[in-house]
Amino acid sequence: MDEYIPCFACGAISPNIEGECHKYMLSSPGCWAMFGEVMAKEYSHPLYWKGHQFTVDAYAAQHVGKKMDKRAINSVHIHLAALYAIFEEELSLEAVPQFRELFSHFYKGKDLLKWLDPPKTFGPLTISEPWKNGHPELHFDITRRWARSVWESWSHQHRTIADLVQRIRS
Ligand SMILES: [Zn+2]
Repeated sequence: MDEYIPCFACGAISPNIEGECHKYMLSSPGCWAMFGEVMAKEYSHPLYWKGHQFTVDAYAAQHVGKKMDKRAINSVHIHLAALYAIFEEELSLEAVPQFRELFSHFYKGKDLLKWLDPPKTFGPLTISEPWKNGHPELHFDITRRWARSVWESWSHQHRTIADLVQRIRS
């Protein structure tokens, strides 16, 4: 059996293991395990923590789940909206959690968020990059590059996301 396999969702070369994944951010178990390990690094070290918002948004936007699952649809919108705010509006990273809350609250129960056809590929960078890195001082740039590459991979949906964000601002 191969030791590593590509995640069926994001393509990350991930440990070929049995196990759980997230309820609607569907991935290969090894990819979800790598995400958990990156989270653990971020929660335990201030320099790793600096990349946390990028990691959360990039990972979610590369794992879109099932078309009929409302939770998956909402999640992808919230995290793409956060990437929009970060890269197009230069929202400070400290303000991102509150922005996600605001976006989520605004659209809750309105049934306005529809399935977004994902890109054919989510770009060359994945959770694998921060997972492999053992240098805390490099983590911020690695996660930033990853998040930007994910945001760019969704370029065909940028207009839709921009419009949804503008609605909560008006
Ligand atoms: Zn994955």
